[in-house]
Amino acid sequence: MGKYVGIDLGTTFSAVAYIDEKGNPIIIPNKQGENITPSTVLFGGKKPVVGSVAKRKSITDPKNYEAFAKRHMGEKTYNFTAKDGETYRAEEISAIILSKLKSDSEEFLGEKIEGAVITVPAYFGDPQRQATRDAATAAGLKVLDIINEPTAAAIAFGISKNVGKAQKVMIYDFGGGTFDVSILDIDDNSIKVIATNGDHQLGGYDIDKAIVDYVKEEAKEQGLDVDSDIKALQNLMIQAETAKKELSSDDSTEISIYVKGEDLTVELDRETFEDLIETILDTTIGVMQRTIDEANLEYSDIDKILLVGGSTRIPIIQSLIEEETGIKPSSEVHPDEAVAIGAAYHAVDVVKQMASGEFDTSSSTGDEKEKIDVNSDDVPDLEKNYSFKDVTSHGIGIVVYNSDEDRLYNSVIMEKNTEIPAEVVQEGYSTSAPYQECIHLQVTQGESDNLDYVTMIGDAELKVRPRENIVPLRVIVSCDRDAIIHVRAIDMDENIDLGEVSINREKHNMTEEEVRAAATRINKLNIGD
Ligand code: ADP
Ligand code: MG
Repeated sequence: MGKYVGIDLGTTFSAVAYIDEKGNPIIIPNKQGENITPSTVLFGGKKPVVGSVAKRKSITDPKNYEAFAKRHMGEKTYNFTAKDGETYRAEEISAIILSKLKSDSEEFLGEKIEGAVITVPAYFGDPQRQATRDAATAAGLKVLDIINEPTAAAIAFGISKNVGKAQKVMIYDFGGGTFDVSILDIDDNSIKVIATNGDHQLGGYDIDKAIVDYVKEEAKEQGLDVDSDIKALQNLMIQAETAKKELSSDDSTEISIYVKGEDLTVELDRETFEDLIETILDTTIGVMQRTIDEANLEYSDIDKILLVGGSTRIPIIQSLIEEETGIKPSSEVHPDEAVAIGAAYHAVDVVKQMASGEFDTSSSTGDEKEKIDVNSDDVPDLEKNYSFKDVTSHGIGIVVYNSDEDRLYNSVIMEKNTEIPAEVVQEGYSTSAPYQECIHLQVTQGESDNLDYVTMIGDAELKVRPRENIVPLRVIVSCDRDAIIHVRAIDMDENIDLGEVSINREKHNMTEEEVRAAATRINKLNIGD
């Protein structure tokens, strides 16, 4: 016996769910009895502490506290350095968080977790998805699948409601660290993402910061400098979040902290709070407009707006959305739990498919995903299940030389929001000089033709047979169901495949050996006990 779960590994809060024998979704509480666990780690004790205890204790030891690892997933150069000098990659911090989630869940269920579906933001590119997989492996979790957060929320919505005929649903997900908008087509058994967009540096945390800045200003007037007292500042960060939550139900609140031994109390009413966060909220509305435009839709085409993410509890957000769209947003799914629940439903589906050999574990790169032994007797039969189609969250292109203008630019080949899996063939490229021996193919991620605004995700020197004429080239970009990109070039004269550009994983991700070392390191920490 074992259990299969869905894990929403959020920027600020994470959640775990499973589907019980009767087919009901159950959120698995952590050891503290909470349905969601802060994605935070505090070092400095005998072993790292995770979650609300870490958050609370961070006040007295802010330098040993890491709260934003998810923002750094897939950044090879990022390291958190604890006070004892030990360093941790973002994947390792995430693995520590996942270890707690795994161990608390196993204790609650009284069974081992045999596999998990983990969700990631739709905008996560290949390196961040791989990093998430690596974090799970380092935490001793078998990954059944990685799916997008809005898709998971849509599954939770679709399974719990009778959707009937196809609906266009917009998911407005305002969490702690990020803001995402997705537009999907949902009916009773399929979900198709039409467009997705987001601001990855905008979330409840920024709202807390707006409160912090306000309190700092008020403190200055009383001759107190919060910045000069790092513990007071950390305490203020935590209290600002509590105050913000209170203002979702109360008209006013108070923040009290000690700054260098002096007592500071600042009052904050809802109206002032709403003024403080106006620009942040306007940004979310702007992203909504952009997403609608990119989907070639009008608000009137949208049947439903679903609110997801803890920050959507702020009452003014709901009225702003209604003002902008004419649609009253719906709270039909639980803002904190829908993503984990959707992932749990998908886990059931994957287990059944794996058991019957239908699940496609290969990707066209040939890097076979880990084979997992599953037992479909451990999952219930569901009345409904969902198939889904996602879209690319970035444009993919190559660097091209424009001889007329004597400049390099980005030529997008696969547009953003292309339904995956997909393949796009683009002609009209060529070598730039006679007798050229090789082409330097550089693969980009981004929408702009200006190279300053795109990311280089891979490059390769591809050999061409030198000849008198300029060689016409065809470039093929494909994206498999895991959002993994492949780019190859064809010599059109001789109809020869010149080879594939490998997307440089090693630039962003841990090697297999590093993942194994991380697993050993995390395991030794005994996070669960
Ligand atoms: P993420 O998925 O990005 O980790 P969540 O969806 O869990 O985030 O949302 C967490 C955010 O929601 C935090 O910034 C938290 O302070 C905020 N939040 C939770 N409850 C409320 C509330 N009642 N009012 C306002 N903000 C809230
Ligand atoms: Mg979230």
